[in-house]
Amino acid sequence: MYFRNEDIEKLLDSLRIEEVVGEFVDLKKSGSSYKGLCPFHADTNPSFSVKPEKKICKCFVCGSGGNAINFYSKIKNISYMEAVKELAQKYRVNIKEYNAKNTDIDNEKFYQIMEDSHNFFMDKIFAQESRTALNYLSNRGLDTDLIKEHRLGYAPAKWSELYDFLKEKNYSDEDLLTLGLIKQNEEGRIYDTFRNRIIFPIYSISNRIIAFGGRSLEKDDTIPKYINSPDTPIFKKGKNIYGIERASNIRNKNYSILMEGYMDVLSANIFDFDTSIAPLGTALTVEQAQLIKRYSSNILLSFDMDKAGKSATERASFILKSQGFNIRVLQFEGAKDPDEYLKKNGREAFLEVVQKSLEIFDFLYELYSSEYDLTNIIAKQNFIERFKEFFAYLTTDLEKEMYLKNLSEKIDINIDILRKTLVEENKKKFIVKDYIDEIEEKPIEKKEFKKANNLELSIVEMLLKKPKYYEFFKDEKFESDIANKTLKFFEEKIKENFNFESNNLMREFENYIRNDNESHSEYINSNIARIILNYVIDTENTIEEKEFLKLFKDYFRVKVKLRDKTQDDFQKIVYFSKFKDKIEKSKSVEEFIEIYNSFKYLF
Ligand SMILES: [Zn+2]
Repeated sequence: MYFRNEDIEKLLDSLRIEEVVGEFVDLKKSGSSYKGLCPFHADTNPSFSVKPEKKICKCFVCGSGGNAINFYSKIKNISYMEAVKELAQKYRVNIKEYNAKNTDIDNEKFYQIMEDSHNFFMDKIFAQESRTALNYLSNRGLDTDLIKEHRLGYAPAKWSELYDFLKEKNYSDEDLLTLGLIKQNEEGRIYDTFRNRIIFPIYSISNRIIAFGGRSLEKDDTIPKYINSPDTPIFKKGKNIYGIERASNIRNKNYSILMEGYMDVLSANIFDFDTSIAPLGTALTVEQAQLIKRYSSNILLSFDMDKAGKSATERASFILKSQGFNIRVLQFEGAKDPDEYLKKNGREAFLEVVQKSLEIFDFLYELYSSEYDLTNIIAKQNFIERFKEFFAYLTTDLEKEMYLKNLSEKIDINIDILRKTLVEENKKKFIVKDYIDEIEEKPIEKKEFKKANNLELSIVEMLLKKPKYYEFFKDEKFESDIANKTLKFFEEKIKENFNFESNNLMREFENYIRNDNESHSEYINSNIARIILNYVIDTENTIEEKEFLKLFKDYFRVKVKLRDKTQDDFQKIVYFSKFKDKIEKSKSVEEFIEIYNSFKYLF
């Protein structure tokens, strides 16, 4: 027996939690919530609180609680799915029961293991050995109550405490490995994945533990600060969102706040911004955006104020726009992130920031205009081009027109010209890549001759003038056939020990390119003509290195733009922004190549 997530959500929506709990606990109204004696520990003064508005209940002493299903399964000592079934019958919510397949039975077992592990971690956080964890949390403003409320845990520093605990419950190594709770080294020794870490539980929409995030307490910098559970049968990081168990708040308030990490989301919750969520160790994915959109299409982006945060905002906005969101961006003055800002200035100040938030287009305008000197006509042109990607993601004509008008007024350029560049000549160049776990077979594309853009033609010209730069481009992949052919030409001629200084270079090159591309002769002819002409005009090699450097940089920018960024984690985003920074500042081709080579693994 099992139920679909949508149905479980429907059940949770229709249940009144005070009614479900009220059957077992004598509840007294207290403000907007209810209080009673906790049924899960020997309680003498009412520690059990029920919040109808948030549809949750919680004991502030033993930490028991959750949604109505969690409560019911615990108090009746039945499984989660049994609780769903009984509650649906009892409160006459019509949902469909499915026969469990093997995978469902397995999944039920996985949920149970995760819940047992979570209980283990929660027990450990108030143990003697976790003092550093408690210190860390209290420095970040989380007291005992909040730790319990958010069900944080601690993974002990020893090698296999969790493993030993779970083995006593007779779980198999195989299952624990599948869930990423343990690892096995080459000698076959088993150890806990999470050690000396604060544990953040990650929930599904129906409030079941599906994964953990762990923050290291080690001083050693070589240990990753944050780790997450790997993808498992019950958890896919690109499809789940931290904080989504509170999605009903998002529906009620009709907006969400997208933040960078666990601590931001926790802080926001402490200050009662309970619609905050974060992607899990990746940049936002299309599937995460679709999940959020089920609850509201209004979203506030609340990322760090540094460069990496800004590019994460830009990136997220593309994904969100492709799904039709209304986006505003929060900007914090005098703080590096929302967590710090909230702690320094509190709730009211944060609300002001929300009021002053920028519409995404205005944010991008500010961001991009800081990169260009708009008094320079070429720079202005590049600046306009910079909006291409954003426009490519917009889904409605209305939006496109609105933003075109906005831009046209801001930079005083005729809207028709902008429309031509940003809409008409800007179709389907950028594709949002989904978080792929089932790789679809792509139909074999008809082989098409790919024409070169100006940049690639310029690079071809440069290579012919400066054959030594071939070394840099030899492992690169161009878009156009003519540029890729050029690389092959170099490869072959080097094998033949050809002298690139020789007068035959252009003739050899021309023959080589033409030979293979008979059918596109007209296009080839005109381009070969252009290349030869430019080569001939510049016999004295008057072109300065500066111009070559510009080509390298342009090539780099295009490459960055076309890169698949959907699975970047924040560390990668940070490295990338360093990379871009250094590249932009490089002063010679030599320096450019050196920087490029030491960072190119990031692509
Ligand atoms: Zn209790």
